[in-house]
This record gives sequence, structure tokens and C-alpha cells, in this order.
Amino acid sequence: MHKVIILGTGPAGFTAAIYAARANLNPLVIEGDQPGGQLTMTTEVENFPGFPDGIMGPELMDNMRRQAERFGAAFVNGQVTSVDLAQRSFRVVVDDSKEYLAESIIISTGASAKKLGIPGEVEMMGHGVSACATCDGFFFQGKSVLVVGGGDSAMEEATFLTKFASEVTIVHRRSELRASKVMQDRARRNPKIKWLLNVTPVEVATDGSKVSGLVVKDNQTGEVRTIPADGIFVAIGHTPNTGFLANQVEIDDRGYILTKGQSTATSVEGVFACGDVMDPHYRQAITAAGSGCKAALDAERFLESNTVPAQTQIIV
Ligand code: NAP
Repeated sequence: MHKVIILGTGPAGFTAAIYAARANLNPLVIEGDQPGGQLTMTTEVENFPGFPDGIMGPELMDNMRRQAERFGAAFVNGQVTSVDLAQRSFRVVVDDSKEYLAESIIISTGASAKKLGIPGEVEMMGHGVSACATCDGFFFQGKSVLVVGGGDSAMEEATFLTKFASEVTIVHRRSELRASKVMQDRARRNPKIKWLLNVTPVEVATDGSKVSGLVVKDNQTGEVRTIPADGIFVAIGHTPNTGFLANQVEIDDRGYILTKGQSTATSVEGVFACGDVMDPHYRQAITAAGSGCKAALDAERFLESNTVPAQTQIIV
């Protein structure tokens, strides 16, 4: 049995692993379906303290991983498909096949990009539809793209895409944006960015093999029309990755794990949560890393006063 199992490998999970490993808890870390998390899909990170010249997202995550390994954290490749938190020891099932037991668990499974849920969106993913401008923007040199969303992510993605695309249009379902003033102003000042407000995306238009535009409905007139485009970037927020918990831990109405007071303790004693999976508000790499540190310290203190009889790992 493991003293602590950490679920997920973004900044929160890696930081929890570094602290837990340095506390001699020999953490087992389940990597998840996107090892390194969302930062592996970004280019330069300019605001992580300690890197005055910036650092590439994948490099930052690789550094964190090596730092955790250096102190003895072990990694398992795979995705947590279910857990059983009814009693300690807790059970963690990976890829529906491997089972691990733990005295405590740190959940740092992050959040995933939301989908519009319109026809053609999933089918055209990678063929003109993308959820990550920093990953795919390069492929749209000199082309016209749409960015769907009215929040900070949409402003950021649209501004970034103007480096490549000839024209970027922000498509939003309301006439008012949700984005912060500074991000809005930056996008508004950019001459390459155009605006299409108060429309609802209906369907991804295709020529059979790739995206040719987006079918939208005008919310005032009801008119349905196709906006021609080579690419569509969906930037409408994120959903916390908590489905595998099957409501065994208290979550809010959006699925974010609820933690107690200033701590990372969840509704289940011995289970802690950190990073984007419990933070709908700040969602920064540095705040995730900070909460990962807190989770490891909380788990360490919990384990000092709560032990369960030793059992061995079971492979099913
Ligand atoms: P968000 O603030 O939740 O905004 C999501 C946007 O997508 C909203 O405008 C929303 O419309 C729209 N939307 C949601 N579901 C939709 C659907 N089914 N169809 C069409 N439109 C839909 O998410 P976010 O922009 O990812 O930002 C999340 C958090 O990260 C925020 O706190 C933000 O400040 C932060 N962030 C900060 C930065 C930065 O400072 N550099 C960059 C990115 C994100 P409505 O407005 O109508 O609800």
C-alpha cells in the first residue's frame, strides 16, 4: 500500500509530488491522459516566478517532473478511471485494469477544455477545429480563423492567433464580453481582430475533409448563415476532471471539488484536492503549484496521526 497517491501531473500534482517525496512519503503519481497537463499545450510561460526570461510550458513541466523524481516520486502511465473512497485504504483504478491502495489521496486532475456540442465539432477536431491556439495556430499562416468565446481565454487566443492568421474573428453568443477589461482592450486594439457578437454557433461547416466555416444563428433576428473560415478555435472555458469520482467527494454545481476553509481537505478524510480541479477562480500555474504544496503538507499531517494496517498492492 502507498502512503499517498497523487492523481494527475499538472503544476499542482508535480508540486505535491515534490513535497510528498521530500517528506519521505514515497508518492505514487498517476500521470493522466495528458502528462504534464495544460501547460504542455502552451508555448512560453512568462509569469511563473523564477524565470525572468520566460520558460516554455513543456520544459517547465519536465523540470517539475524531474525534481519530483529526484526525491523518489514514482510515476504510473495511465488514467484514473475510478476510485473507491468508502473506507481506508482507498482504491485507485488506472485504465480499468490496475488497482492501487493508498492511505491518502491527492486529487490534482485539473480541468479540460469545454466543447460547444455542435455537429462537426468533434469530427473536425484536428482538421480545422482546435481547442488550443498555442498548439495549432502555426498551421493557420495567412488563413482566416474564428475564435468562439467571450472570456479571457478567447481574447488571449485571438490575440495570439493574429501572429499567424490573416484575419481573426471573435464569435460570441452575447453582445457583452465576459473578459477582463485589459484583455478586451488588447484585443480591440488589434487591427487584425474582427467581432461577431450575439450569435449562437449551430454547426461546423465543412467541404467534406476540412473546415470551411461556422454556421451561426443571429440571436436577435434568428437568421442562420455560414461565416467562411479555415479554422475554428473553441475557447469557452474548462470543465474540472471529476467524473471518475462518481460523487464520492463533495463538488459544487459546476463539478469543482469543494475544500474546507484554507486547507485542501475534501469531504472525505484523507483525500485532498489541489489545482484547477478545485479552483474555478485563479486557475494559474503558480496558484496550482501553491495548492499542490498545501495538499502535500495536509496529507503529511493527516498521515502522522492516522495510519491503517499495511496491505500490498493488488493487480487485477
Ligand atoms: P470563462 O471566463 O468561463 O468564459 C467562457 C466564455 O465562453 C464566456 O464568454 C461564455 O459565454 C462562452 N461560452 C461558454 N459556453 C459556451 C457555449 N456552449 N457556446 C458559446 N459560448 C460559450 O472561461 P475562460 O475565458 O477560459 O476563463 C476562465 C478563467 O481563466 C477566468 O477567470 C479568466 O480570467 C482566466 N484566464 C485568464 C487569462 C489571463 O489573464 N491571461 C487568460 C485566460 C483565462 P457567456 O459570457 O455568455 O457566459
